[in-house]
Amino acid sequence: MPELSVETTLNELKISIQQILTCALEINSEPKNWLALLEEYRVKPASEEDKQLVAQFNHSEGALPAQVRAMLLDLKRRLTPIIKKLNEKFDVLQMEELVDLHKIFVNQSMKKYIELIRPKVTMQSIFANVVATTNLQQQSKETVDTKKCSCCGAARPSDTELDSCVYCANPFF
Ligand SMILES: [Zn+2]
Repeated sequence: MPELSVETTLNELKISIQQILTCALEINSEPKNWLALLEEYRVKPASEEDKQLVAQFNHSEGALPAQVRAMLLDLKRRLTPIIKKLNEKFDVLQMEELVDLHKIFVNQSMKKYIELIRPKVTMQSIFANVVATTNLQQQSKETVDTKKCSCCGAARPSDTELDSCVYCANPFF
């Protein structure tokens, strides 16, 4: 087994993140790659129910955000013992970039992914957004209780007991 190094671990992490995002975006053109990743990270394939739920968000391109998050979380979990081992051998400064990335990459990658699968902005959609935003502002005066997901911006219905976002699985608490 090759010697554990900070540099290779960091590089492998960056490659794995990129691979998850790329395969998620190319789910329609390269479905086999996505299936292989589901298996590798032991993530359940999307059910019809999941797909219908996500269809409401009008993001038809790409894999379900909640599945992407599950993969990233599994990647994070796997890395924890490796970082622990590296910590014994290397000092704080050498570990800094890896430790920082390990801390933030799940949320950072999710924001990036959601940005990428958002429908492209056209003049028409800008006008539609203005109208929708105006409606939303009027609504929010009435329903002050509605909370928004800090990752994808989806509204959390105030009458549910959900503890995570239905769209991207970001925990609310
Ligand atoms: Zn969300």
